[in-house]
Amino acid sequence: MSTHVSFLEQVNRSFDRAGSISGHDPRLLDQIKECNSVYRLTFPVKRDDGSIEVVRAWRAEHSHHKLPTKGGIRYSTTVNEDEVMALAALMTFKCAIVDVPFGGAKGGIKIDRRKYSPGELERITRRYTFELVKKMFIGPGVDVPAPDYGTGPSEMAWIVDTFKSLTGGGELNGEACVTGKPLAQGGIGGRLEATGRGVYLGVREACDIEEDMRALGLSRGLEGKRVVIQGLGNVGYHAANFLQQDGSVLVGLAEYEGAIANPAGLNLDAVVTHRRETGTILGFPGATDIPKSREALELDCDILVPAALENQIDENNAPRIQARMVAEAANGPTTSAADEILAEKGVVVLPDLYLNAGGVTVSYFEWLKNLSHVRFGRMEKRFDENSHRQLLAAVEKATGASFSDSDLISSVAGADELDLVNSGLEETMIDSFHQIREVQKQKGDDLDLRTAAFVNSIDKIVVCYEELGIFP
Ligand code: NAD
Repeated sequence: MSTHVSFLEQVNRSFDRAGSISGHDPRLLDQIKECNSVYRLTFPVKRDDGSIEVVRAWRAEHSHHKLPTKGGIRYSTTVNEDEVMALAALMTFKCAIVDVPFGGAKGGIKIDRRKYSPGELERITRRYTFELVKKMFIGPGVDVPAPDYGTGPSEMAWIVDTFKSLTGGGELNGEACVTGKPLAQGGIGGRLEATGRGVYLGVREACDIEEDMRALGLSRGLEGKRVVIQGLGNVGYHAANFLQQDGSVLVGLAEYEGAIANPAGLNLDAVVTHRRETGTILGFPGATDIPKSREALELDCDILVPAALENQIDENNAPRIQARMVAEAANGPTTSAADEILAEKGVVVLPDLYLNAGGVTVSYFEWLKNLSHVRFGRMEKRFDENSHRQLLAAVEKATGASFSDSDLISSVAGADELDLVNSGLEETMIDSFHQIREVQKQKGDDLDLRTAAFVNSIDKIVVCYEELGIFP
């Protein structure tokens, strides 16, 4: 019999476990745990057929210890206040882990986006933004949304446009009111794939530690690792793509209508094309169909990547999970009961609050770009290239060596925006992984990575409060 524990309660349980290990003042821990403000709203939307529908939506700001607050907006039929508060809390801890100076927030609109035309989605998004502006729940220094489940660059473009028109265009930093925008609307190169790239980088780092891999009965590195991915949306698709490019074998892919498996490997782009053409992932040539999509989580593999929604691995299916590593690309895919079962089975869980932080990291870069009003690399790219060229010319002269054109091209190139974004993301994911691993080592190796990540995050947030003298 499964006992229902809400998503928020699951996050709070993880927090409490880490809080008790952290040794901080319980009053301070209570303050850090609580959600500071929640805005619950309903508004009417006119459908294309002229009918009026009432839409329910939320925005939760979990912590104001740093401003602005930051977190995505999801469009989903399952979204509710509890879920938005849980996701906002995760954002607070996520930002602290990757040293992004924001508090956590999250928004949600309770709709199934597939049932609305682009025009209807635009009206819903603009009206939601209008309501957020009215209550000061959005702004470059206040609260900065981003994409999440069911939203993408188009929604972010409507949000920034609505914000700018409501603030009269006089808001110099108006573009920084939301991230994940299209490039022409103030977006940044690399944001679309950032969360998936971050997932890949985190998994790569974890798989690079020989002793950890040996303990799991696996070889070091990604080459040949058998991977199952649930959810081929923004995060799942890009994570799968980077993992496949680095030698992993995609043995199972799951979407909401069903899943497919092939121990010899599935070509990601061929599967995506097949799904687009036929309307379903099922029936892909050479693969076995799994009509009950969730059963794909139980496939024989090395790494399982849930990249859809929360509560996918629970106490019912956790005993049957065969993966040695669960890489939480989605938020909250593993319940706390499942966490315990996986730990007993010796499965390593790379926790959501670290693993999917690539999105907010690059959102931070986008926000910085918007505030500075100049793209990264614009000032120094050409200067760097000229300096490198002069240096190589000096080496040629001093040594008599002669570099080929292809050597010269690759050696002198200065970094452009995408190079810098990807480099900053890689540095962040590697550095944060080792910070968490260090906490794990200090507190004892039986500590799971989720608790270690929470402890790391709580320690950093505590410093902010202590420096304010609120809890000496
Ligand atoms: P998305 O809407 O782009 O993709 C989600 C995909 O999951 C869709 O293709 C959907 O059809 C599929 N799906 C839904 N239910 C499913 C099921 N039961 N089984 C299999 N597939 C299913 O959303 P996304 O942005 O990729 O977000 C996915 C997860 O990653 C969410 O938990 C989100 O909170 C988290 N996340 C997203 C970002 C981001 O930058 N987009 C950042 C951090 C975390």
